[in-house]
Amino acid sequence: MFENIIGQAAVVRNLVDGLKSDTMPGSLLFDGPSLSAKLTTGLELARASSCTQDASWNCPCAECTRHRILVHQDILLLGPKSSRMELELGADMLERVPGLASRYFFIRAVRKLTRRFDRELYENEENRLAKALPLLRTVFEALDACLPGGADDTGTTKEARKIIPTCVKLESLLPDATPVFQIRSMEFWARLAPFGKKKTIILEHADRMLDASRNALLKILEEPPIHTRFILTSSRRQAIIPTVLSRVRNYRFSSRNGDDARTIIERVFRCPEDGSTNLEIFFGKRQSEGIQDMAVSGREWIAALLAAIERSGRTFIEVPLAALAVAGGSNPGEIIAGVAAGTGKFGASDDTMAWSFPAFLDAGSKTFANLLRDGQSGKETLRLAECYADLARDALLRYSSYNLNPVALAERLADSFIGGNL
Ligand SMILES: [Zn+2]
Repeated sequence: MFENIIGQAAVVRNLVDGLKSDTMPGSLLFDGPSLSAKLTTGLELARASSCTQDASWNCPCAECTRHRILVHQDILLLGPKSSRMELELGADMLERVPGLASRYFFIRAVRKLTRRFDRELYENEENRLAKALPLLRTVFEALDACLPGGADDTGTTKEARKIIPTCVKLESLLPDATPVFQIRSMEFWARLAPFGKKKTIILEHADRMLDASRNALLKILEEPPIHTRFILTSSRRQAIIPTVLSRVRNYRFSSRNGDDARTIIERVFRCPEDGSTNLEIFFGKRQSEGIQDMAVSGREWIAALLAAIERSGRTFIEVPLAALAVAGGSNPGEIIAGVAAGTGKFGASDDTMAWSFPAFLDAGSKTFANLLRDGQSGKETLRLAECYADLARDALLRYSSYNLNPVALAERLADSFIGGNL
């Protein structure tokens, strides 16, 4: 079991020991950076707990067969999710290396998203599913074609490409933070007997919860039903409250670099020629266009801030600074809204865009660095650059440590920067 988890040997050893000695706790926290296989490991643990044989990856038992395509009834998946990158990679794999492995990869990527719309998560709140249902129908029809025994390879690739935009729409319907009604629905489901041996609930981004949801979760973790296992995942353990932490056993995942990353890129993603040394770079290459855009946005952002200061009556003396202020067409709020719209609210509603808030702040700093490289810049520019750097550092700290909303942080930075430089 866990043969498909690459580069997390310590975690896997602990999990296998726990299963074999029957000392696995009822509530677990998988903590570690994004792209460290926390969800995949959670899904494997669910499969291993349901399996009626030895839980090897190719196990032919009925439980494993259902788990491998993520249709098992004893699993519940919730929390914000971004699947776009994985879906596109999956469709790409279907085209480059058609076959069973690519089909499974794509089907699992889709189901990791659609399972978040399971009716069990909407107990007495079914009306909230109204917008999702027609989209889900479209996705499920196409998914039938992708299943082994469905359409031929060309047909499968076509169907896969076709449903990605629908999946993206579905994703936009997911809440940014797990709402309390879902925690209550999950609790109700958790207390019902399993179909097979064990139920597993995977709650991703356990740090992204409002107070009411957190309190409801705490109550379940206090008295977890014996036949249900809870797996919380988070890349920001420090943002989870101590009362929750004290009720879960922690499993620390590390980011995968070097040989592990190369193995994943070659064997799982089937891109032997890629050459990336870590997964961030691998996915980053697929986002390079976005990073280019961010540099442009950073310059517009600083220009807008400078223009707002000038509108309040201050005139810049140093030429490069004054020239950039003149170029500031929009107001800072518009710039923030524009970037937020293109980045899933700076990653708040799109995990693959989590790089965008630090990148946005950094693009602003780079703009100042460029200004300072100009011989005509001096103390005036330097003071503004230092002020921006302080505010950006503060915003980044609040973002990464306290889970604050990046859009609000950017707006606050703008207010402080303008107010402090009049
Ligand atoms: Zn099995």
